[in-house]
Amino acid sequence: MITKIIHEDKIQKAHKYIEKGESFVIVTHVSPDGDAIGSALGLFHFLNAYGKENVSVIVPNDYPNFLKWIPGTKDVTIYEKYPEFSEQLISDADVIFCLDFNDPKRIEKLADPVLKSEARKVLIDHHLHPVEFCNVTMSYPNISSTSEMVFRFICRMGLFDLIDKNAAECIYTGMMTDTGAFTYNSNHPEIYTIIGELIKLGIDKDLIYRRINQVYSEGRLRLMGYVLYEKMKVHHDKQAAMIALSMDELNRFDYQTGDTEGFVNLPLSIEGVSFSVFIREDSDYIKISLRSVGDFPCNEFAAKYFNGGGHKNASGGEFYGTLEDAIKRFEQGLTEFNPNNTEDFIKHK
Ligand code: 5GP
Ligand code: MN
Repeated sequence: MITKIIHEDKIQKAHKYIEKGESFVIVTHVSPDGDAIGSALGLFHFLNAYGKENVSVIVPNDYPNFLKWIPGTKDVTIYEKYPEFSEQLISDADVIFCLDFNDPKRIEKLADPVLKSEARKVLIDHHLHPVEFCNVTMSYPNISSTSEMVFRFICRMGLFDLIDKNAAECIYTGMMTDTGAFTYNSNHPEIYTIIGELIKLGIDKDLIYRRINQVYSEGRLRLMGYVLYEKMKVHHDKQAAMIALSMDELNRFDYQTGDTEGFVNLPLSIEGVSFSVFIREDSDYIKISLRSVGDFPCNEFAAKYFNGGGHKNASGGEFYGTLEDAIKRFEQGLTEFNPNNTEDFIKHK
């Protein structure tokens, strides 16, 4: 048995929306990751099994190839490619599920149609400080993935039997990717009770690991080598490290979306480094990824210096300007936001 974490009234309200609804839309955040796609498609398969025929998953933009094997991936509509079709689906929806994000800003151009829609809205998410824009807000930051929340939600409606192998594969993928294959945020024993159930439903967890982590191109591995040898800057005195890559550098290695996934974690394997930042130049902005181990609140750092947020140990943000200026901003932050002795840190400890 798993404990009841999600409030009963939220479960019942969302269950009623499912019972009564005919057309459903599931949306998730920009640059969807494994948990975004896993939770969205997990819920998608469940709603199909429930007998709902009009269920659409819409994402703001494309997602990496290593997520394209996930069952149901062909049914995902990418807003950037099909804006009108997406908007039609949203305006026709009776119920919209908002998964793995806490603020409409995180779905970018989808925010407008979603906020305007008269559909009932249900948020299922695990990021801190959710914005109230849904009729039901299931926000539980202590749960390590939205996919786990989807599993819990389905079970709490008494509908475990409607989780098929496809849904189980999606849910497991999200649980695995949001915990770095169960290497962080993964000490809750019930995670493993749930995994046991998913295995009984027929998933091959070892195969899923390989499909996500061992499908990269030669270019990605060479880029990783270049990054580690030439680009990683370690600030031992601050227990921090930074990697910054320009578009030119990425192109030299035949960069494909997703190729830099996980790079931000690499410096954390150095003893004594507990804060890592990866800065990547994109076509119209600079993307920042931040990770920490232990108490360092990288979401606060992201909010203060990069207009971002996220979890304590995994956050992101954006910078508008040159790559050099983004690096300077990080370095400025590192001086001011000293993990050892600034007020910033003590405040959050
Ligand atoms: P990643 O580095 O993998 O892109 O993002 C890690 C986590 O940081 C995500 O799960 C998300 O919670 C958060 N995050 C990433 N980018 C942003 C951003 O631009 N704004 C906010 N508020 N959170 C972000
Ligand atoms: Mn997540």
